[in-house]
Amino acid sequence: MLPTAALTAGRFASSLSQFLGKGSGEVIGGRLALRIDPQLLARVGRTRRSVLVTGTNGKSTVTALVAAALRARGRVVTNATGANMPDGIVTVMASDRTSELAAIEVDEVYLRPVVDALEPQVIIALNAFREYTRGVSLAATLEHWRDVADHLPSDSVVLANADDPLTMWAFEGAPRVVAVEGALGWHGDAALCPACGREHQWSADGWSCPGCGRRRPDPAWRIETQLADGTWLIEHPLGSEAVRVAVPGRTAPIGAAFALAAGVEMGIDVRATAEAISRVVDVDGRYFPFPVRGRSARLLMLKNPAGWTEAIDVAVTSGSPFVIAVDPFGPKDTTTMWEAPFRRLSGRSLPVTGGRAADALAVLEASQVDGAEFPDASDAIAAATAGEGSTGEVIVACNYPAFRRLSKQFRASMQ
Ligand SMILES: [Zn+2]
Repeated sequence: MLPTAALTAGRFASSLSQFLGKGSGEVIGGRLALRIDPQLLARVGRTRRSVLVTGTNGKSTVTALVAAALRARGRVVTNATGANMPDGIVTVMASDRTSELAAIEVDEVYLRPVVDALEPQVIIALNAFREYTRGVSLAATLEHWRDVADHLPSDSVVLANADDPLTMWAFEGAPRVVAVEGALGWHGDAALCPACGREHQWSADGWSCPGCGRRRPDPAWRIETQLADGTWLIEHPLGSEAVRVAVPGRTAPIGAAFALAAGVEMGIDVRATAEAISRVVDVDGRYFPFPVRGRSARLLMLKNPAGWTEAIDVAVTSGSPFVIAVDPFGPKDTTTMWEAPFRRLSGRSLPVTGGRAADALAVLEASQVDGAEFPDASDAIAAATAGEGSTGEVIVACNYPAFRRLSKQFRASMQ
């Protein structure tokens, strides 16, 4: 079948879905088009050279940096809206038939069909953590990745996080693996070796397994240091490169290392890649701080203990005021918070808001951290900086539904 018929049906469904207010038209249109023509993703995507980005945390940021890197070479199609399953990806690919390069974020449990359809040149594997938004176990995800590794194109390369033993194990069978320093702030999910079941040992040199001898490989791409002017020095097989990364957070230099490596694997000059990366200041609006009552509020969406652990670390190291926003999310409301090291914030009083504020306060109490409930999020943000009279940036740590609600609320109040 020509791609046209399936695409026309998909586009009609997309418009209809948007007209009826049924949520993401991209996904619904793509789903119908793929049902009509299961080979559609291969038809609209395989002619391009592509980089896929997968993992539990940080996909969108790294995809944005990779897309920027590839633009140094030519036009790029990318799923910046975060529609990262096959039905969303097919719609994005179909809407841009001319770009020869693709930077595609892929949901970690849909990697195999996307790899089969697109036959990518580069796969970036960031990390593997437990995840509660969808009900797929970490073990199932790792098995899925093992299967992907066995079916990758022979000329492809996996850029894998050297610091995550689970990710390294999952892609062992890939034709070529290049280790990148990707950090692992949360060891809770990687306590045991997935190969032999022994307990990992962690040291300044990274992880190692006393049972089977697997250990952290020396990364080919390494984050050396942050220079006085704020740029990051990244060492690589060809030398070293200073990269300025404008997006915030600890993910930024890690993302830059992966994006530089991807650029080089795609044949782009490393200097040109670094310059292209430095121009990324925002990812799908998610890093844009919102002005709230004279403060600047940055929303973080946290979906697992690894995410909460990183947010707490940013609050501790930056000294930024910290607000917790948790809304109802089925039985998963505060599950992800219980394992996070809130004790590190003891001595502070944290404003808490959202429909599950009482549950979040219980987590804080168990960690001996003071909390106070504010029904209104703006009041909570104002309270976070009240004592200091500061106008500095406030970190608003949100679970998924609170992130959605507050993004919408603050965006609307800006218009
Ligand atoms: Zn082992």
